[in-house]
Amino acid sequence: MPRTMRIAMVASECEPWAKTGGLADVVDALSRALGLPDPAGPGHEVDVYLPWYRGLNPPEGLVPLELRVPVGGPGGEPRHETVTLWSGEADGYRLRLVEHAPSFDRESFYMDGNSDYVDNPARFTLLGRAALEAIRAEARPVDVIHGHDWQAGPALLSLRHRYAGDPLLREVATMLTCHNLAYHGWTPRADAWQLDLPLDVGKHDGVDLLREAIKTADMVNTVSPNYARESLTPEFGAGLDDVLRARGDRYIGIINGIDTGLWDPATDPTLVAHYDASDLAPKARTRADLMARNGLDPDGPLLGLIGRLDPQKGFDLVTAAAPELVAMGARLIVLGTGHEHLVAGLQALAAQHPGRIAVLDRFDRSEARRIYAGADLFLMPSRFEPCGQGQLIAMRYATPPVVRHSGGLADTVVDADVDPARGNGFVFGPATPQALVDAVRRALAALADEARLAHIQANGMARDHSWRVPARGYEAAYRRAIAG
Ligand code: ADP
Repeated sequence: MPRTMRIAMVASECEPWAKTGGLADVVDALSRALGLPDPAGPGHEVDVYLPWYRGLNPPEGLVPLELRVPVGGPGGEPRHETVTLWSGEADGYRLRLVEHAPSFDRESFYMDGNSDYVDNPARFTLLGRAALEAIRAEARPVDVIHGHDWQAGPALLSLRHRYAGDPLLREVATMLTCHNLAYHGWTPRADAWQLDLPLDVGKHDGVDLLREAIKTADMVNTVSPNYARESLTPEFGAGLDDVLRARGDRYIGIINGIDTGLWDPATDPTLVAHYDASDLAPKARTRADLMARNGLDPDGPLLGLIGRLDPQKGFDLVTAAAPELVAMGARLIVLGTGHEHLVAGLQALAAQHPGRIAVLDRFDRSEARRIYAGADLFLMPSRFEPCGQGQLIAMRYATPPVVRHSGGLADTVVDADVDPARGNGFVFGPATPQALVDAVRRALAALADEARLAHIQANGMARDHSWRVPARGYEAAYRRAIAG
C-alpha cells in the first residue's frame, strides 16, 4: 500500500474559482484525483494555493490565517507584506486563497489591457512565499511542492534560495508542470528586485522564471508525451529546449485527463437534452437549441471552436478557411476571447455570413458546454498544443474533433481515415487553411455516413479521458522527486 503524501500545489488558476484556460481545469481535476480515496489506496492530502482575485466566488466556511510574508524592496532591502490566507474544503482537496488586495484585487489575472502587469514578478512571489510561510506556520512538513507554470517559479526558487536553511522546508521535494512553454514570466533586470532572489541576471539581462524553475525543480513535466519530445527541439522548445534537454529523464510527459464527472453529457445541467454512449439521439436536440440560440441556420453541419484567441490556437487558419467551409455548406460557431485583431477578423466574417457564422467574444462556461454537445465537429487547428482539453471534452460529448497533428492533439486523436477501426476524429499536418479545409471535407464525408459517424463517436466516448491513469503518473513522479 503506498504511503499517502502531503502535496502543496501552487497555481495561478483553478476551477471553478479562477480560469482563463486548461490550466484551471487541470489544477482542480488533478488535485481532486490525487485527494479523493480510490480503490488503489487512500487519497493524498492536497492543498491548492491560489490568489484571491477580484470577483472570485469562494467556497463556504473559509478560515483565515494572517501571515507575514518576506519580500524585497527596490533597493534590495528586506520588507514584509501581511496577507490573509483563507482555507476551505473543496471536493477532495483544501483550497487556500491568498488575499492581498493591492496584488490581486484587479481587473484581470495577468494583464493590464494588452500588456502584463509590471509587478507580476512581485505578485507571484507573494503567492509563492505565502505558501511557504503557511507551511512553516502550520509546522507540518509537506512532501512535495508542485508548481504550475512560470507563476509558480518564485515559490520553487524561493524554496531553494531563501528557505534553504529552514529545517521544515529544506527536505521538501519539488515538481514543476509546464502547461505551456510559450509563457516564461520574463522579468527584466530593472524589475528583478521584485523576486528578492540571489539570481544572476547578468547574462540574459533579466530573469526567465520558467527557465530558472525548470533548472531548479526536482522533477519537471509537460502535459503530453508528444509535446515533451517536440519541446526538446528548437522549433517547439520556445527557447527552453536546451534546459529541458539538460534535465534528461527528469523531464517527462504526462497526458492530461478531464474531470469526467464535471464533463458528462448524461448529466450536464446546461444542456436541454441528455445522452450517453448507449443513445446519442438526444444530441440532435442540443444541436437545434445551440443553433437557435445563436441565430444559425439549422441546415448544414455545425463546426464548433472554443479557445483563447491567440495565434497558438490557429484561429487565423479558420478565418482564412471560413469562406470555403461555408461554401461547403458548413456552419461555424466560435467562442473565445483574446487578441483584438483575431476577434475583429472573426466578427467581420460573422457579419459577412449571417446565419452561417456566429462569433461569441466572451468567456462563457455554459455556452462552451452547449457547443461541445451541439456541434457536429469540434475544430482545434492549434499551431502547437501542449495537451489540449477541448478535443478531450469534445470526444466525451460525442463530437469528433478535427485537429492539427501537434503536441497532445497527436497523442489523443486518431484519424478515422488512417485507422478506421480506432479512429475518433480527423488529423491534418500542415498549418495551412487548405489542409484544414481538406480535413473538414474528409470529416463531412464521415458525417454523411451514419454508421461510420456512430463508430467514430463511440471510439471517442469510449476512450478513457479520466484522471485515473495520469494521476498515477504524477504520483510516481512525486516519488521520484522525493527520492532525489
Ligand atoms: P488552453 O489551456 O491552451 O487555453 P485547453 O484546450 O487546454 O487550452 O483548455 C481550454 C479550456 O478553457 C477548456 O476547458 C475550454 O472549454 C475553456 N475555454 C477557453 N475559452 C473559453 C471561453 N471563451 N468560454 C468558456 N470556456 C473557455
